[in-house]
Amino acid sequence: MPAHSRRSMMTSLPALATMVLGVALLVLTILRWRENGWGALVWLAVFLAMCAIRTPHSLRNRANTVVEARKGATEIALLAAMFMTMMVLPLLHLATGVFAFAAYALPDWAVWLGALAQIPFLWLFWRSHTDLGRNWSPGLEVRSDHELVTNGIYARIRHPMYAAIWISALVQPLLIQNWIAGFLVVPAFAAMWFLRVPNEEAMMRARFGEAWDSYCTRAGRLLPKQAS
Ligand code: SAH
Repeated sequence: MPAHSRRSMMTSLPALATMVLGVALLVLTILRWRENGWGALVWLAVFLAMCAIRTPHSLRNRANTVVEARKGATEIALLAAMFMTMMVLPLLHLATGVFAFAAYALPDWAVWLGALAQIPFLWLFWRSHTDLGRNWSPGLEVRSDHELVTNGIYARIRHPMYAAIWISALVQPLLIQNWIAGFLVVPAFAAMWFLRVPNEEAMMRARFGEAWDSYCTRAGRLLPKQAS
């Protein structure tokens, strides 16, 4: 067997194993919907929609040439915490009930609120990905032809994708009523917001200078600026 196909088999094995595990967790989560409640099904559907929105951008942006990446220990820890609290812990719990000891119960209106909030979340998440296009990256990166995006949703807010993730993080504990599988994403994303945003803005200022500063006078950080 040629060396390159042996290599691609080796790299595709972990990917295949992750896919099989992912599908098994999904099936178990759907089968256990009575134990988890309907809010968990809403969470699962939105999680899949989020993956569907992001995947084409991830695949296309693989071709980007990165000229600067800020990958310190804090950044890696923040990304790992988000991956665990937004994906691994909820799926693991919904599929197996492993954190049942940490459950709490909320009234039905809380689940409805969580379900309705998924509409603005998905819209903002989709819109910010569409507007950022090739300039999006999951980590803090500048690509070789990086453009400063100041149009679309970015005309009014500087961090619409994080605004979307704030909505998602704040309502996850309403849909998954569990301190470990549902709630932990709130402190994880709060840490990400407070530690990453200053770093990201410093990176943008270093790259775009005056253009970034003048953009900041027009667009609010999380909420639109009042027109003066
Ligand atoms: N903070 C933004 C983007 C998150 S994605 C939001 O919440 O919508 C993170 C990457 O987006 C960063 O690595 C940075 O390179 C890029 N980025 C952030 N703001 C940008 C902008 N206005 N124009 C172009 N790229 C931007």
